[in-house]
Amino acid sequence: MFAGADEYDVDVTVDERAVERLLSVRPADVDAADRLTFARNVFIPLTTACRYTCTYCTYYDVPGEASLLSPEEVREQCRVGADAGCTEALFTFGDDPDERYTAIHETLTEWGFDSVHEYLYRACEIALEEGLLPHSNPGDLTEAQFADLREVNASMGVMLETTADVDAHSGGRRKTPGQRLNTIRAAGRQGVPFTTGILVGIGEGWRDRAESLLAIRDLHERHGHVQEVIVQNVVPNERSDFPKPDRDTMRRVVAMARAALPPEVSVQVPPNLSPAAELVDCGIDDLGGVSPVTDDYINPAYEWPDLRGLEAVADAGGVPLRERLPTYARYLPDDLRPAGVGPAPSPDPADREAWIPAAVRERIAADDVHGRRLRAVARGDGPLAVRSD
Ligand code: SF4
Repeated sequence: MFAGADEYDVDVTVDERAVERLLSVRPADVDAADRLTFARNVFIPLTTACRYTCTYCTYYDVPGEASLLSPEEVREQCRVGADAGCTEALFTFGDDPDERYTAIHETLTEWGFDSVHEYLYRACEIALEEGLLPHSNPGDLTEAQFADLREVNASMGVMLETTADVDAHSGGRRKTPGQRLNTIRAAGRQGVPFTTGILVGIGEGWRDRAESLLAIRDLHERHGHVQEVIVQNVVPNERSDFPKPDRDTMRRVVAMARAALPPEVSVQVPPNLSPAAELVDCGIDDLGGVSPVTDDYINPAYEWPDLRGLEAVADAGGVPLRERLPTYARYLPDDLRPAGVGPAPSPDPADREAWIPAAVRERIAADDVHGRRLRAVARGDGPLAVRSD
């Protein structure tokens, strides 16, 4: 049980024998996937304000320097993304900006929003208007906040990173494992298709990695909402010198993730940070959100590969590449799932399509160029292109 380190008592139990079993897993013990998927997104850093100061992070800006995109800027970025064939508006910010960010709060008030989450709701509406499906990563949320924001999101996410208390999260303002687990649980209780993951190389050990993966599995087994688990390695940057974990470390931890998680939960590595081609045989089946139009603002020094680069990863593993929506196929309504993909058990027995909110269903069903693009990607017959050989 992860409890006591903070005010969040999350009754996640990790069985010691399961940890031992997972620690013995090696790449040869898992099967490779029969395909790799990715989503085409436009990355929208709504604000760089964050109440925390994780030592490996270059995303946040200190009070006085943090940015906040205006509604017009959000709309413009969404238009650029939709024109480039994206399906996903990936909204990122750090964690709820605290009272130190007076300029951010004053601007939000001027624009008529009481909180950054209220503003995020409006930004998601703008994305839907412009033909994209919002996927928001707004840090830790309560169940009430998920209940609001789920209305305008196709899926959401937060990285667990690790269940260990590591120095990288130290300081007066620090995020805690209990908080993150509480957020993942709250998403499950609200029926939100959810992305989470672990961060490798921030001071955690092998046992911590195993426990983190098993904690995610435990929460997924209760709520059925975890669609993918990212296995992300830390990279050196201007704020920290954590060494990048080596290839063999990544091969072993990816294999552990594949062994720990049920088959319906995808294992993803970010192809701009990890040696993805050398991890396909360890069980990855997804390359995440990749943008043809924006940088990875979380790791700006590491460029995303283009579609040819993704094809090269798939070729290295001898598997086909497929495009997907930000929401995985099993959460989609019956008429949008590709053949052979069954539905995830609905969080609401009275509504078979409860995973996807009405506003998102309407966006996908719209009789316009965007609706047609979203439906084609959902069903697996477009718009992935390039391949000319
Ligand atoms: S990693 Fe996330 S929570 Fe930590 S400082 Fe960066 S944006 Fe904030």
